[in-house]
Amino acid sequence: MERIIALTIAGIIILYCMYALYEIFVINPRERRALNKTQKKQTKATSTILNKFIHKKPRCLENFDIDEVPTEIKNNWVQGPEFLSKLIKCKCGEEELYVYASSNKEILLAPIYLECPKCPSKNLIFDPTIHGWDGENGENASLVGETEPKKVYETPRRVIVNYSFQNQDNYAELIEDGIDKPEDYFDVIIINTVNDAGKLEEVVSYECA
Ligand SMILES: [Zn+2]
Repeated sequence: MERIIALTIAGIIILYCMYALYEIFVINPRERRALNKTQKKQTKATSTILNKFIHKKPRCLENFDIDEVPTEIKNNWVQGPEFLSKLIKCKCGEEELYVYASSNKEILLAPIYLECPKCPSKNLIFDPTIHGWDGENGENASLVGETEPKKVYETPRRVIVNYSFQNQDNYAELIEDGIDKPEDYFDVIIINTVNDAGKLEEVVSYECA
């Protein structure tokens, strides 16, 4: 009797060990491979949607030239294909521009204008009532200033704009709906200037969706 019990226990232990080995060497790698595949698929889907339009300039930047942000400027904007960051230039080539913002008491608010010190151009760069996801859809709820936009800094500065297209499903839907300029529907925008120390200083940041 005792021998039978001992054998049964030994049998159970052996079976358990075999199952544990099976799990480690067969099931886990299979699951890992499946998971990798899904992740790869998702990344691919994200870049396929974005690649259709992120190389195009959103409407709010059409009166400016854009360039890559110089590497010496420390930019904390999130890394990833859906987060863009551009240096804004006047069409004449000038990189240092006067920034105009509206305000509400002490807080700087859109609309934001940029003026070139070298040529007579002054253009709107962002107004949430017409630009970005909500602006394009005519349903902006963001705060805009009530005062006439005023010069924010005494001297012209380099301007860096960060903007993003974060919810891939929304952009896939826009494309399906036949919207031909999804690049106009960014969901966040931050307008920065480069201060004398070479650091980014935020003028305004807006969630547009
Ligand atoms: Zn100019």
